[in-house]
Amino acid sequence: MTDSQTPIISTQGLWFSYGGDKPALSDITLDIPRGKKIVFLGPNGSGKSTLFLHFNGVHRPDMGEVLFDGKEVKYDAKSLAELRSAVSLVFQNPDDQIFSATVEEDVAFGPLNAGVERGEIGKRVDEALSLVGLSEQRERPTQQLSFGQRKRVSLAGALAMRPKVLVMDEPTAGLDPQMVHELLELSDELNQAGTTVLVSTHDVETAYEWADEVRVIHGGKLVFSGAPEEFFDREDRLLHEMGMAPPMVLSLNRSLHDLNGTPLKPYPRTLAEAAHKAFRQRKERAGKLLLRCVDEKGGAIQPASHERSGIYGAAARRLAQDGRLDVHYQFHALESGLMEAASGRDFVLYTDSNLCRLAEEKAKRLEKNAGVKVPIVHEHGDKKGEGG
Ligand code: ADP
Ligand code: MG
Repeated sequence: MTDSQTPIISTQGLWFSYGGDKPALSDITLDIPRGKKIVFLGPNGSGKSTLFLHFNGVHRPDMGEVLFDGKEVKYDAKSLAELRSAVSLVFQNPDDQIFSATVEEDVAFGPLNAGVERGEIGKRVDEALSLVGLSEQRERPTQQLSFGQRKRVSLAGALAMRPKVLVMDEPTAGLDPQMVHELLELSDELNQAGTTVLVSTHDVETAYEWADEVRVIHGGKLVFSGAPEEFFDREDRLLHEMGMAPPMVLSLNRSLHDLNGTPLKPYPRTLAEAAHKAFRQRKERAGKLLLRCVDEKGGAIQPASHERSGIYGAAARRLAQDGRLDVHYQFHALESGLMEAASGRDFVLYTDSNLCRLAEEKAKRLEKNAGVKVPIVHEHGDKKGEGG
């Protein structure tokens, strides 16, 4: 029996060694709560990839166990196939994952192997390629693609499995800033639709802004499990020992405390929150964040006139790529929009209905952490007549 309280994945007393004198993982006991965004943080060689390979059964613990949905993972072929349709792992290096000659063959490989029916596979490939923005490259040979495109192909392959848990090993490594934000945005979107998302990284800024929770691995041991702000705002030397600096937003928060006596808590999570915590006494009137839904349910697109605008989510991104939307912010638009609105400018965010809740959550957090209230206005795209 499972319920929403059962962790989607857990490990108990997990040990694993590649055969050297030191184990790669020592006594790892952790839970992955379902429906969350979790970042695994740790320097190179700390054991993140080795742990991820346990989550979909590629590695088997020497001692201890892995549980999926409350049940002990079994290692016969049938159980492994089941596990791998539920838990999709995207490798750090796309070339470890891409085997097929063309993009569509590669994306279809997983579902085909899992015995998904042919008609359904076509649908899934369409959907996955569209999510990662590769619909146009469908028939291209995988060998002709750039590194970033190959990363998208391997992600599309994982998405085509429609996994309950998406595990991405250093997904942002080697990507330019726009692609990093697109990837995190897509992860938010999948997460809002119910997917649990695990990401490994050594990028503290990304981890701090994006994660619901962090798990920190150092020297093959789990050294922290909990909220990102609790891990980063610490007095001991662990961060230094791990070769990491605290996120800039938290350093700014610390300086505000030391120089102005501003209370440390609540901790700001984003630059917008930190900026407004610093300057809140100026009390400008906040602008509005206008949410315009552009997914299937939405109708005519009303072009933003003089207001600042941005796209958030795959549906809006497609419209921008097709030239049907012209916006200021092509990425990181929700955070930028909150920042603009908090500074007194109205901002139009073209987005999907399933991302509106996240926009509301972030606006609430801005109010709680920085004391600025940004009013949110839902504008449904099904109004008659196009603005101009
Ligand atoms: P991370 O992903 O955090 O960089 P890894 O899980 O790749 O760390 O590595 C953990 C430890 O296991 C390191 O000491 C690494 O050298 C070792 N290791 C990783 N893969 C192998 C392998 N295929 N064979 C032997 N040792 C390995
Ligand atoms: Mg690794």
